[in-house]
This record gives sequence, C-alpha cells and structure tokens, in this order.
Amino acid sequence: MEELSEPLENYVKEIYELEEIKGKAKVTDLIEAFHVSPGTISKAINRLEKMGLIQRKDGLKLTSEGRKIAERLIRSHRLSERLLTDMIGLDWIRSHEIAHRLEHIWPDDVLDVIDMKLDRPATCPHGHPIPGRKVELGKSMTNASLGKHRIIMIIREEEWILREAEKLGLLPGVEVVLLEVNETGVKIRLPDSEKEITLQPSLAKEVMVSD
Ligand SMILES: [Zn+2]
Repeated sequence: MEELSEPLENYVKEIYELEEIKGKAKVTDLIEAFHVSPGTISKAINRLEKMGLIQRKDGLKLTSEGRKIAERLIRSHRLSERLLTDMIGLDWIRSHEIAHRLEHIWPDDVLDVIDMKLDRPATCPHGHPIPGRKVELGKSMTNASLGKHRIIMIIREEEWILREAEKLGLLPGVEVVLLEVNETGVKIRLPDSEKEITLQPSLAKEVMVSD
C-alpha cells in the first residue's frame, strides 16, 4: 500500500476518535475539527476511500485496515502524552502538541517499552483510553443529570479547552457536582470548595462525566 501522508493519517485518527466518542464520524465534524474547507475534506475522503481505509456508510466508517492504522497512531499519541507528562513533567497542553509529532516516530518495539515503563496506563492525561484498554464512556456535562459525577475526559484536546479546564481544576478523576444545566451554562461545584462556578456551554460540552 502507498504510504499515508501525515495529514491523511490525522484524518484517519480523527475519524477513529469521533467514532469512539459520538458513535460515528460526519464530514461536518472533520471540517470543524481541522478548520479546513469542505473541498479539502472531500478530496481527503476520496483518497482514503480509494485506499480502502474508510467507507461512506451513514457518515464515515473506518474499514478494519483503517482502524488498525488509527489504533496504532492513537496508542502512540496517547502513550507519548503520558511519557511527556508523567516522566518529563510537561503540562498537558504542550504534551498534546509535542505528541502530535512523536506519534509518527516510535517503532512498535520502542512503544511497547514506553508502555511498560509507564505501567501500562489506561488513558492519556486527558482521559482518552489507550486502544485495547478498558473504555469508560459517560455523558457530556451539558447532557448529564444533576448531582455528583466524576470527570472522565476532556473531549476535544484543543488548547483553549485544556487551558480553561486546567485553570478550573476540571481534570479526569475529579468529582464534580452539577447544580444546574441550561442553555446559558452549567453551574457546578468542585470538591473541597464552597464556590460555585458556571461554565460556558462551549466548555461544558467538552467535559465528559460519568453517568
Ligand atoms: Zn490526550
């Protein structure tokens, strides 16, 4: 098979992540995620379809070959992030950025050593599961019921989202009480804090909490 360019690899990866979180990937999701024109996306989709990596079936679906490539890349990305945060001590924004480059370089046997040294983590620092490990899914904060929940993941690992989430202490594993959910925002309380904070819907929708 011809070699995948890095941009095409990134589309394959994004489709996998969309399937993982939303159950399916739509063309409009890709346009939103990559900030590119519909024309650029449709060209990329045609190439991936020709290469046998995706199918158009109720949105976009990875074939088993496409899935294999995506899982390898995502495993590499998420383990790279863990390596950078847990061992090197970088913050979770930089580790995500640098992992985008590192994910393409590790040979499989080196990746296995990294995984072992990290004690085979279940997720990346942002809460996304390492492929092959236990997957825990919940609901976006904007769709969750009121009451106590645990933060599972930050859904889109974009810089502004990660910065805001970190500033507010919205990290995977943290318990949070949802007090009010409506179109103008989500009011929450964090443990050990009497303070109530209201999250903008655009941020709240990116925080996945346990059911
Ligand atoms: Zn991550």
